[in-house]
Amino acid sequence: MSKKQFKTESKKLLDLMIHSIYTHREIFLRELISNASDAIDKRYYAAMQRGETGVDKDRFVIRLEPNKAARTLTITDNGCGMSASELEQNLGTIAKSGTQAFRAEHADAEDVDIIGKFGVGFYAAFMVAKKVTVYSHKEGEEPAVWESEGEDGYTVKPCNYEPIGTKIVLTLKDDGEEESYAEFLETYRLESLVKKYSDYIRYPIMMQVERSRKKEDSDEYETIVEDKTLNSRVPLWRKNKNEITKEEYALFYRDAFHDYEDPASTLHINTEGMLSYTALLFIPKKPPFDFNTKEYQRGLKLYANGVMIMEHCEELLPEYFGFVQGLVDSPDLSLNISREMLQHDRQLSAIANNLKKKILAELLRMQREEREAYEEFYKSFGRTLKFGVYDKFGMNKDFLKDTLLFWSRNSDKPVTLKEYVDAMPEAQKEIYFAAGDTLNQVKKLPQAERVADLGYDILCLTEDVDEFALRILESYQEKPFRSVSDPDLDLGTEEEKKEMEKRAEEAKPLLTRIKTALGDKVLDVRLTDRLKNAAACLSGEEGMSVEMYKVLRQMPNGASIPMTFHLDLNPDHPVYAKLGDLDDEQLKEYASLLLAQAKLVAGLPLDDPAAFAESICKLM
Ligand code: ADP
Repeated sequence: MSKKQFKTESKKLLDLMIHSIYTHREIFLRELISNASDAIDKRYYAAMQRGETGVDKDRFVIRLEPNKAARTLTITDNGCGMSASELEQNLGTIAKSGTQAFRAEHADAEDVDIIGKFGVGFYAAFMVAKKVTVYSHKEGEEPAVWESEGEDGYTVKPCNYEPIGTKIVLTLKDDGEEESYAEFLETYRLESLVKKYSDYIRYPIMMQVERSRKKEDSDEYETIVEDKTLNSRVPLWRKNKNEITKEEYALFYRDAFHDYEDPASTLHINTEGMLSYTALLFIPKKPPFDFNTKEYQRGLKLYANGVMIMEHCEELLPEYFGFVQGLVDSPDLSLNISREMLQHDRQLSAIANNLKKKILAELLRMQREEREAYEEFYKSFGRTLKFGVYDKFGMNKDFLKDTLLFWSRNSDKPVTLKEYVDAMPEAQKEIYFAAGDTLNQVKKLPQAERVADLGYDILCLTEDVDEFALRILESYQEKPFRSVSDPDLDLGTEEEKKEMEKRAEEAKPLLTRIKTALGDKVLDVRLTDRLKNAAACLSGEEGMSVEMYKVLRQMPNGASIPMTFHLDLNPDHPVYAKLGDLDDEQLKEYASLLLAQAKLVAGLPLDDPAAFAESICKLM
């Protein structure tokens, strides 16, 4: 049978494994045991789904068998097993979850140090083995064997491996001058590796060990061989909080949730009384690679008394905290609970309710005490929080509002709404914001000049969801939000306002001429007191900014939204003073130029860029 080649990206990872730093190689065992445990979970879970109540949890076991003579280490599980095509799929290509993130971030990583920190999955076997043979048998399928000696490909063939499950035989590499692989055949070494990395695995990890024992009625000793369970099987979250180190939490997180970075924060919650449960929650630093896709499955793992009953229980996490990873273990849940029952489970919704408050409190604590870490976190998940404010007609806006950060014109760091309000001068009654594509563009928005001149800071919105979030919030600490693009900004004194009204009245004939010249390219032409240095700007209906229109247009069915705006002119600008003296043809040209300018500043495309260029040249 001809050898099949690994996919390119798998090859890279494989290469990294084969040439990895010696000290990291021991983690291969953790990876294989973790896969075995997952496989048993799957088999157990499937049996329960089928309603097989008699599944005996205690018959599941992971077994290690070192063989010095053959120089092999065998890892056997009686989990779900793999069919020939699954062997091909799962082991021939790079795995979906953790390893893919690794590939995305570290495809060219020279620094193999990362391996020690991160779960790299099945391929870790090649850190210690020159040949890997995987016998597997899935219920209802023909057993098959997968074999590979590394870079030059692999084979998959039928075989007659009888038990359901998987047996992985590692033929260890030859010892070199400085490297020894034979240590992985020593039972004491394997035992300490299991203690170090896999102690909390719930299924027994068994190995035959030799022990010397005093003979009865004699002073002599004999060596006996016995089966020994190497792991304590207490899941991490069931241990006493005080006995768990930060590193242990981090290791568990990286392993169970396929991240290669430590979490930004860890929450270990134990509650007893009416509602008994343990929760172990992690707030990641970075989103998983599929976070913004439909593939991403939100939710927490759900355990009933230490047994996993659901991999992603959505009912436990609101969508706006969908980035949180972790698990909930409760002694009162039934093992055979169905999805439908879960949705109506009072206890579950009470837990969810508690958890979301804890998560909020933790986020706010980070924001106060670890601002930089919070800002990093916010870069990854701020959008999710802002969407949470806006979503469901603002149902959760009050709950979430203090988690938000926004850029502001006067600060080079993002600020909270509270910080903004606390810094407001007495005379300022509203919270101003401006929206645009980039921070730089927003800071230079002509509409913002007058407001900024009064010494008022302006929130700078650069993400599509920002303005929607603020508009649905309406106000913060009774200070309404106000777009600097709003035509009724109400900035000047009473006198100034009267003066403006008078000027607008006088300007009417001119404004009508300009509107006629521009036709339906604009909604209307008006005077504004918002501008200082710029001659003109655009604004939408009812103070909606141009940015809002851009976002609305992106939405399904949004293409029909017309991108036509009010053209607001600065009556104090020298160009405005000239307009009155122009004949109709000149006026049309000037007006078109002003409109084009305003569009460019707002980040909109021009209808006719060539005509614009021509006009400018003509004037020059
Ligand atoms: P990951 O565990 O991150 O998905 P791996 O490279 O470790 O990636 O494994 C790839 C896939 O192979 C797993 O997702 C699983 O479907 C399958 N697999 C690995 N080991 C076993 C096993 N012992 N029993 C059954 N399936 C396994």
